[in-house]
Amino acid sequence: ESLLKINKGSHNRLNCFITLEDMHTLDSAIKHSQDRYNNGTERRLEGIPIALKDNYTTKGIKTTCASKMLKDYVPTFDSTVAKLLKDEGAIIIGKTNMDEFAMGSSSTSGYFGSVVNPWSEKSKEKKELVAGGSSGGSAACVAADYVLASIGSDTGGSIRQPAAYCGVVGFKPSYGTISRYGLISYASSLDTPGVFSKNVDDASLLLDILIKQDMDHDATSISSPFKSIDESYQNYKKNKSIKDLVFGIPMDYLVKELDQEILDLWKKVVDDIEAAGGKVVPVSLPHTKYALPSYYLLATSEASSNLARFDGIRFGHRASSSTNQADEGWGQGLKQMYKDNRTEGFGEEVKKRILLGTMALSRGSIDNYYSKAQKIRRLISQDFKSVFKGTNTPQDPTQIKVDVIITPTSPTGAFEIDSHLDPINMYINDIMTIPSNMAGVPSVSIPLKLSKKNNTPLGLQLISKRLNDDLLLFASDLVM
Ligand code: GLN
Repeated sequence: ESLLKINKGSHNRLNCFITLEDMHTLDSAIKHSQDRYNNGTERRLEGIPIALKDNYTTKGIKTTCASKMLKDYVPTFDSTVAKLLKDEGAIIIGKTNMDEFAMGSSSTSGYFGSVVNPWSEKSKEKKELVAGGSSGGSAACVAADYVLASIGSDTGGSIRQPAAYCGVVGFKPSYGTISRYGLISYASSLDTPGVFSKNVDDASLLLDILIKQDMDHDATSISSPFKSIDESYQNYKKNKSIKDLVFGIPMDYLVKELDQEILDLWKKVVDDIEAAGGKVVPVSLPHTKYALPSYYLLATSEASSNLARFDGIRFGHRASSSTNQADEGWGQGLKQMYKDNRTEGFGEEVKKRILLGTMALSRGSIDNYYSKAQKIRRLISQDFKSVFKGTNTPQDPTQIKVDVIITPTSPTGAFEIDSHLDPINMYINDIMTIPSNMAGVPSVSIPLKLSKKNNTPLGLQLISKRLNDDLLLFASDLVM
């Protein structure tokens, strides 16, 4: 069905794919899956169409990071994520549109144009809305029913925020549980692969397939405590109820930018949990206010180093002017060639971030910026630890251990594509998602209801202790 829809070209309107696998290859993949069904050897994702964000390498399929720099790059290897999906019989139908190099919150900064939120036409004003970002294409193609599930990457909110804007589930697991091999790096210490789906059960199945230690390829990949996260999630569903859980509400997330409708939804969910017998306590995450500035220093610092490889020689776009300059030998000519390649290959936002990161790491600034941001990162991580350990619930003298924190995913719902937010307002979008990346804790955005004002989706975010991803799935399913 999804292929039929795509064949008709309706996806073009949303601009959610950068590359679609050709129909001939898809047809033969479907045939192969049908054969496996017929002879009873089907795998867990046999014949299921899945889309991958265009920053995961796919052997023989273009992988562009939505950048002119990589517009013709065809990798010779599969990312671990792509390989694990294919091994289970999934059909990778295409690569999704995104913000250039995953830098952004709106999927409007890429070389291939903006992703349009599928809810735009159902919204009250029928204006074109953003799908969120940076994994906007992956969120949009699930919301529009082109695929049952898709893969995104989340460095500071890039799965959860578009999930909220498009009304789907977006799950970012604990840092290190899914291999980053073949995920083209933005900020390696924060980049986290994760999934989009329509419901929590599907997210759990995908995580079960993707959570696997990959020591040969990714030095930050860890061995996770669950033998099978899906089994453990299903066990929670069988044996536990909402009465066994304690939910924490961080007042520090009550920012002035928060939309009234989202605040009301947050309050209603708290009331509903209490009415169903769950316990809710106020908690404090006091360093939240420093998360945004320190994130933008750390992420851009890492990016400035990671993106150095795109010089037009090892990887990336080669400026046409460069042929003559190479003849000038390895002096000025070479430098000018790097300069031309990078000036032409990178877009504005990426250049801005490389400059900021280079400044933050420079000898005169590193102590004032990069090192201070690292210290703040440790304090943010400590905040979460205290809440989950039960040593940081100011109004509760019993010092109760919190299982799951509930917050809004983003201060607002999807905004208009042409709203031309200034960079500061754009960065504020991530204020609620960034702390989880800084601490490496799992967090998820779940769709809850439609905005009365605009008829577009509203979502909330749930966060749990590091490596309690199974419990987080359970809590999300309860709240949804
Ligand atoms: N919006 C954030 C940024 O631009 C997060 C992006 C992401 O998670 N990839 O850095």
